[in-house]
Amino acid sequence: MSAESKKANNFIYNLIEEDIRTGKNGGVVATRFPPEPNGYLHIGHAKSICLNFGMAEAFNGTCNLRFDDTNPEKESQEYIEAIKRDVEWLGFHWQGDVRFASNYFDQLYDFAVELIRKGKAYVCSLTADQMAEYRGTLTEPGRNSPDRDRSVEENLDLFQRMRDGEFANGELVLRAKIDMTSPNMNLRDPILYRIRFAEHHQTGNKWCIYPMYDFTHPISDALEGIVYSLCTLEFEDHRPLYDWVLDNITIACHPRQIEFARLNLNYTVTSKRKLKRLVDEGHVQGWDDPRMPTVSGLRRRGYTPESIRKFCDMIGVNRVGGTVDVGMLEHAIREDLNERAPRAMCVMHPLKVVLTNYPEDGRELLELPAHPQKPEMGSRQVPWTRELYIDREDFSLEPPRKWKRLAPDQAVRLRGGYVITCREVVRDAQGEITELRCEYDSATLGVNPEGYKPNGVIHWVSATDSVEAEIRLYDRLFNQENPDASKETDFVDSINPESLVVLQGCRAEAGLAQARSDIPYQFEREGYFFLDADQGSGDRVIFNRTVTLRDSWAKIEARS
Ligand code: ATP
Ligand code: MG
Repeated sequence: MSAESKKANNFIYNLIEEDIRTGKNGGVVATRFPPEPNGYLHIGHAKSICLNFGMAEAFNGTCNLRFDDTNPEKESQEYIEAIKRDVEWLGFHWQGDVRFASNYFDQLYDFAVELIRKGKAYVCSLTADQMAEYRGTLTEPGRNSPDRDRSVEENLDLFQRMRDGEFANGELVLRAKIDMTSPNMNLRDPILYRIRFAEHHQTGNKWCIYPMYDFTHPISDALEGIVYSLCTLEFEDHRPLYDWVLDNITIACHPRQIEFARLNLNYTVTSKRKLKRLVDEGHVQGWDDPRMPTVSGLRRRGYTPESIRKFCDMIGVNRVGGTVDVGMLEHAIREDLNERAPRAMCVMHPLKVVLTNYPEDGRELLELPAHPQKPEMGSRQVPWTRELYIDREDFSLEPPRKWKRLAPDQAVRLRGGYVITCREVVRDAQGEITELRCEYDSATLGVNPEGYKPNGVIHWVSATDSVEAEIRLYDRLFNQENPDASKETDFVDSINPESLVVLQGCRAEAGLAQARSDIPYQFEREGYFFLDADQGSGDRVIFNRTVTLRDSWAKIEARS
């Protein structure tokens, strides 16, 4: 995306440009993407990734990847690996090694001791319930903890013993001493450390106390020399605490926290907790189920990194929250694939066509372009034989007016092949159509027939020289525009029962036995389809529908 359009829809871009113009921060641009490794990344994270890495790219700066790993019970190495893979797949490069907040646990501990020494932190023994009660409400000030005035010596001793494991989970916490009457609840003596006897994926059993996010984040940013700490709007009220922490310890760097609106998409949930529930309760087949709004799900579905980056550019970055139409994301992948996807044919509901005037063992290879507008993409060979398949839906016994497909005694062109005319309809005992007996016109390859006009063009494959395919038709996972809007209903009740329809026994053109696994195909007249990452055993190829050719939801919404 050009700098011009970034200016138009990204206020952070403008702000950094202004800082550079005025020589603030010595022209240095350093950002970070700080995921908590407690789930897989989703499309909302992609927005944050594109912003943080994108600003570093735009201004010759750097962006760190830092795992914000202060909740060991919810985190895992599996998530760490998945997040690294997703960031790289999106096409971004972090500065130096991957960082972990847990790399800084020793320093964080020392900074906590510094706060205690300065009389700015104390060990508190209130229970969680008592603490909530003392905290007050938005309309009532809080009350000081009875432990607030412990001596520095006593606090130092208790904190050391917390670290040494002398107390149980929840027995004591370390709190900042700020202001229990502050209108900002985050400043009412927030917790800095709590006791958690839990093994940590990076530090093992070294620690039984873990620092809180609000304490860890500013210090980690500052230790890494971050200049712009970009985060979502829900942290706006935490900014005074971010600044308080850095103002009250001895540290040279003070990054600027800037908040932007989270991405919300309709027909989608983007909360790791809810996505985890979908996985754990088996509503989907895993974090990378192609219906999931996770980066890994989108990848498996056939989304390209370019389309996701384009989407993030399109939605821009501002401070006004709102919901983006998931149609925009679908639009981005459609546009991208229309340009780049090689074309192929696949018949979803095969109906046999026998060309009665074509030799029994005849076979020719038709040369079809890989992309009709892009000769540079080359061509593909599609076998033409006596027995073919067309889609059941492309034949009608009693066609409506202006029927563009095949019907008794009518002619149609098979895409890239010859014109055929239907002469006889074969049915079984139940009256089901089992076969069409047709004549092909050998003079019509690439030229119009003499004396008659075919109805239209339909897709087809050879019946004897094609490959069996399983086609997974994915649709939106939720059929409610705002699945988690209501407090009364559970978001899983809005799952679209038709979000996955599996078609077996489809037939794809022969070349797809060696289908590419790096980009989806356009199956002509059907949509974009991507080879599934798990092909199983068996002779068939398995394709996921990435997106339809047109937005079918727009039509439904317009109708209702
Ligand atoms: P979730 O609510 O899904 O659990 P989170 O904010 O807890 O997300 P983190 O791993 O802490 O997840 O997020 C890493 C970074 O991604 C943070 O800076 C966060 O602000 C940003 N982020 C998370 N969700 C979104 C979103 N929907 N839109 C934009 N940025 C997001
Ligand atoms: Mg979080």
